[in-house]
Amino acid sequence: MQSVVNNGAVSGRVELCERPSILIVDDEDSNLKYLSLLLSKDYDVVTTNDVYEAISIVENVNFYLIITDILMPGMSGHCLCMLIKGNPLTRDIPILFLTGIDSEVDELRALELGGSDFVNRPVHPSILKARVKNLVQAQHGQIILKKYAMYDELTSLPNRRYFVERAEQEWLSCQRDDLPLSVIVIDIDYFKKYNDHYGHAQGDFCLRKVAEILKSALKRPRDFIARTGGEEFVCILPEADFESAALVCERIRRSVESARIAHKKSDVSDIITVSLGFECAVSTSIYRDYGEVVKKADEFLYQSKLLGRNRICSIQSNTFV
Ligand code: GH3
Ligand code: MG
Ligand code: MG
Repeated sequence: MQSVVNNGAVSGRVELCERPSILIVDDEDSNLKYLSLLLSKDYDVVTTNDVYEAISIVENVNFYLIITDILMPGMSGHCLCMLIKGNPLTRDIPILFLTGIDSEVDELRALELGGSDFVNRPVHPSILKARVKNLVQAQHGQIILKKYAMYDELTSLPNRRYFVERAEQEWLSCQRDDLPLSVIVIDIDYFKKYNDHYGHAQGDFCLRKVAEILKSALKRPRDFIARTGGEEFVCILPEADFESAALVCERIRRSVESARIAHKKSDVSDIITVSLGFECAVSTSIYRDYGEVVKKADEFLYQSKLLGRNRICSIQSNTFV
């Protein structure tokens, strides 16, 4: 890889940035150099002459566009396109084919595979720049729409729709690799009383604060948290076994407590607290889908409420934690 400028945006693909990132894949170093010079004034340009490297980085950088050659050793641009479009984490990134091949068949195949544009070399630099600009702008619009559709306005956390999409992906991925997946359901204790006493605006402020705390309690890159209801949040912890999930739950419970947000009307404390339920679906799981795991975690949350709140509940081999 010749230059990497990671804008820091990762999974979710809805981060907006001032200088969009573009990935260029071509086995000819001179082509990479030329395109990099042409485009790096307006974009963060990442180039690679290795298709396999392209595949390994594409999930980790929030690319607005991929420009690829067709004929490359090891794997063709068509194949690369097929892989990118087949991966739920990358399928929305537009792909522009830039190639010396002038063939109707190849152009049709590129477009049928989901490519957004096909350009033959030689191409006038200003025309290529204009095409790139159009694609990046269209992608920018898509990202804004996705942001509105997938994120909760109040807390900026992913919303229920995003949760469903992500949970399905992670469930399939953990099943495929025979790995556990844990789900945590979190609910603020006596939040109605908080709202009634402090007012709705302060209630909103508190929800935002709790959301921030929950987010920073998750440490692994694939850990995911969403606001799925009024004062209810759900976490997905891919690959987390029972003990790891229990540790994360306790970290969450303690972080909320440590924030010491006053709650005079709580029956369990004089500060805001949360109750949690979690379930770890191990590889030999009895569950058919992630929804059943969420349901189980929810039942454990209910137990936490019954047992006195500000606590965690789950069962492993008939043992309460
Ligand atoms: P429990 O300890 O059993 O969880 O009781 P609770 O009062 O927290 O639960 P309940 O479901 O009875 O009430 C939830 C309250 O959350 C109702 C409403 O006042 C508040 N709420 C829900 N969504 C919002 C919101 O977007 N903003 C604010 N400020 N409050 C909200
Ligand atoms: Mg509650
Ligand atoms: Mg509730």
